[in-house]
Amino acid sequence: MHRFFLPADWIQQDSVTITGEPLRQISYVLRLKALDRIIVLDNSGWEFEVEIERITKEQVKGKVVNKKPGQGEPRIQITLFQALLKSDKFELVLQKGVELGVTAFVPFISERCVARKESAAKIERWRKIIQEAAEQSERLILPILHPLISFDEACRSVKQPSLLFWEEEKSVSLKQTLQNPPFKRTAELNLFVGPEGGFPESEKELAKQHGIAIASLGHRILRAETAGLAAISAILYEIGEMG
Ligand code: SAM
Repeated sequence: MHRFFLPADWIQQDSVTITGEPLRQISYVLRLKALDRIIVLDNSGWEFEVEIERITKEQVKGKVVNKKPGQGEPRIQITLFQALLKSDKFELVLQKGVELGVTAFVPFISERCVARKESAAKIERWRKIIQEAAEQSERLILPILHPLISFDEACRSVKQPSLLFWEEEKSVSLKQTLQNPPFKRTAELNLFVGPEGGFPESEKELAKQHGIAIASLGHRILRAETAGLAAISAILYEIGEMG
């Protein structure tokens, strides 16, 4: 069944009223009809199975026929602090990160970033990529896209256990790190991944000063758009979230 993240106030008791872009999707793109069913999500973690009653030019009216808690959210809340990358690569990290279970994304500008700012239109496009990937991958909570900040601000902002992947780190591995407090069995985790040019030593040191641990992802140098996704997959596997 097609899934739609909708504002919570569009669901009133067992009645759902849909307008705007989702209306266009339902009636013109998917060409759904009365009696067809869809899944509606209001970011509460519940899935509402809705039977379409009627579709007009102005709105879709539906009736909630079933409501159940979904299973699409991982047990760990991962925030991916990703250095701004050339656009198509950044969009790939957003889409795949959502599929894997990322809770929030924080784009940041670091010393070696090639891309250094983004237009409002581009950020709107990123939000659309996140929503579409969340609907496709059966997520229950829409991942958050935080505003673009500097690396320094990103380091100062972290509270939960945080881990920066440094391509020059040779002794401490991700696996070792996950086996020790405060990472072992943590419910929240921040991950930092650098830009195409990597992190200079000075930024690695700045991160350490803010209590951010440093780890390696192994002997091979991963592309910036691969590193975060590989780390997230390894962490989810390690905690038994990969089936
Ligand atoms: N020049 C390549 C590119 O254009 O994509 C490599 C970029 S660099 C290595 C990207 C970021 O990925 C690094 O800053 C780091 O965060 C992460 N990374 C890649 N390979 C890694 C490794 N083996 N260990 C730790 N971090 C790694």
